[in-house]
Amino acid sequence: MEESYDVVIVGAGAAGIGMALKLQHIPALSYVVLEPGDIGESFRRWPRQTHFLTPSFHSNPYGLADLNAISELSSPAIFCGSQHPPGNQYADYLAFIAETAMLPIEQHCPVNHVDRCKPAGFKLQTERGEVKTKFLIWATGEYQFPDLAPFPGADSCIHYATVNDWTDYDAETFIVIGGYESGVDASVNLVQQGHHVRLLVKKHSWESENLYDPSLSLSPHSRDRLNEALKTQRLDIHFGANISHVDQGEDSAFRVHAEDGRQWHVNHPPILATGFVAGGGAQQISELWEWDENGKLQLSEADESTRTPGLFLVGPQVKQGTQQYCFIYKFRQRFTQLASLIALCLSLDDSDLHAESAPWGPFGNSECCEDCEC
Ligand SMILES: Cc1cc2nc3c(=O)[nH]c(=O)nc-3n(C[C@H](O)[C@H](O)[C@H](O)COP(=O)(O)OP(=O)(O)OC[C@H]3O[C@@H](n4cnc5c(N)ncnc54)[C@H](O)[C@@H]3O)c2cc1C
Repeated sequence: MEESYDVVIVGAGAAGIGMALKLQHIPALSYVVLEPGDIGESFRRWPRQTHFLTPSFHSNPYGLADLNAISELSSPAIFCGSQHPPGNQYADYLAFIAETAMLPIEQHCPVNHVDRCKPAGFKLQTERGEVKTKFLIWATGEYQFPDLAPFPGADSCIHYATVNDWTDYDAETFIVIGGYESGVDASVNLVQQGHHVRLLVKKHSWESENLYDPSLSLSPHSRDRLNEALKTQRLDIHFGANISHVDQGEDSAFRVHAEDGRQWHVNHPPILATGFVAGGGAQQISELWEWDENGKLQLSEADESTRTPGLFLVGPQVKQGTQQYCFIYKFRQRFTQLASLIALCLSLDDSDLHAESAPWGPFGNSECCEDCEC
């Protein structure tokens, strides 16, 4: 690892690897990706039974990139041989793309602290010493930053993001709190293992007024799975359940209390599927961002911190206006403009970045593999 770079990307998940692929198009730019675990570490930590909900399909030769791809010409559907790959296979896809592109990545190198330098730039404390950079791209995601305290008593529950394998848990009945993707995924997986599940949800995320917005509405894939689970009659859904707290009775059963006075009792610790801390991994350097009164991180139109020039955010926490870039096919659209901006600031040539227009499709991704007959 060098002592200083033009750009450091922190995090080698989908956002960090996708961003690095774009930086590679800028000749003479020095950059590195720093990652505390392995490439795709968050995907490797998904529960073993969890699969992608957005479908992967090799539509690339017809001008539409695979929805889950982080490079235009690759396809997780082809690499994983699956329309809904599990987390570990997707992590292997990321590692394969990074290796093929020979991206400069330092694995097992956490960034523990960041200081601003005067007049510009950053000094990063890593497990392998100090690194300086002119620009810092924060790509630490949210999965490794679960909100473990959404209400009193939550510490006695098991958060979805800490589950490795649903077969590690055994009980006749489970309670799952939270009615969006992870709550439905937990419930379906537990029902598939033969358990009974009570799913407690505030409101339908599958019959909401926001059916067109996948950040707010349950994906069709999860709806199909939910319908199958309901057919077993081992899944009960309780709506309007705004949970106020969890405690334990004298019989040591867990009591889940809703604001409207309802109570549910269960012997096994309830499963929390209530989300992640606001800002996710950006909280690690919270003082370098501006936060509004609702705890939302503020960004310029270029995804730059409104408090710290030269610091950028990529990934699912990026929000511009009403658009939340929470899925890979959404946030990958921001990479080119950020790479281009950095090239401009450093007076470097970015023409290679724009060699193809609208590369993610439709009809922009027409290049195909050599000798391909598709
Ligand atoms: C159950 C589930 C299903 C999902 N299904 C889909 C789907 O079907 N389609 C879709 O598009 N999205 C899906 N998502 C969302 C998707 O997983 C995330 O949007 C995506 O992982 C975000 O990528 P990322 O690179 O920003 O974050 P991550 O993949 O979490 O990567 C962040 C990286 O940063 C590293 N890091 C953290 N802190 C530091 C530090 N201090 N120093 C260095 N590195 C650090 C982490 O180790 C990690 O490798 C799903 C999420 C979940 C939980």
